Amino acid sequence: MKRIILIIASSMCYLLSIMYFIDYLQHKGIQQEETVETFIMEESIEEPKQQSNRIYCTFNISFYDACIECCGKDDGICANGELGIPWVTCAAPASIPFGSTVHIEGLGDFIVTDRGGAIVQEGNEYCIDIYVNTHEEALQYGRQYKEGYIELEDYYGY
Ligand SMILES: [Zn+2]
Repeated sequence: MKRIILIIASSMCYLLSIMYFIDYLQHKGIQQEETVETFIMEESIEEPKQQSNRIYCTFNISFYDACIECCGKDDGICANGELGIPWVTCAAPASIPFGSTVHIEGLGDFIVTDRGGAIVQEGNEYCIDIYVNTHEEALQYGRQYKEGYIELEDYYGY
């Protein structure tokens, strides 16, 4: 009889230790999940940094082509050394790095690869010169004021 009690007692101890061990493993699992959550939180903290690369502003928009009258030369080469692409290329103030994207409501997206003497920034108003096919087309669009934003590209050394 004593022996049976001893066997039951020892097997209960064994069960208890297994339960503790399972509990320990579960606890360890939770700790790992917490670590993952902390990691995700740290990642999401960095996101506003990217959003700060966006400037919401008013655009004072003009249009130009590769003619002598517009550029003083007619090779179509932009200030960054690349060939202008109609309705893609635009000139922006020097504060906007080359490669930045300009989003203009109603007109679309343009890539900054050019500069211009009159293309300046005054407060929250940015002059943008959009490169088009011909001088006639440039005249046709005239000057426009529109809202939008600039997605700043990291400066890459032009
Ligand atoms: Zn022109």
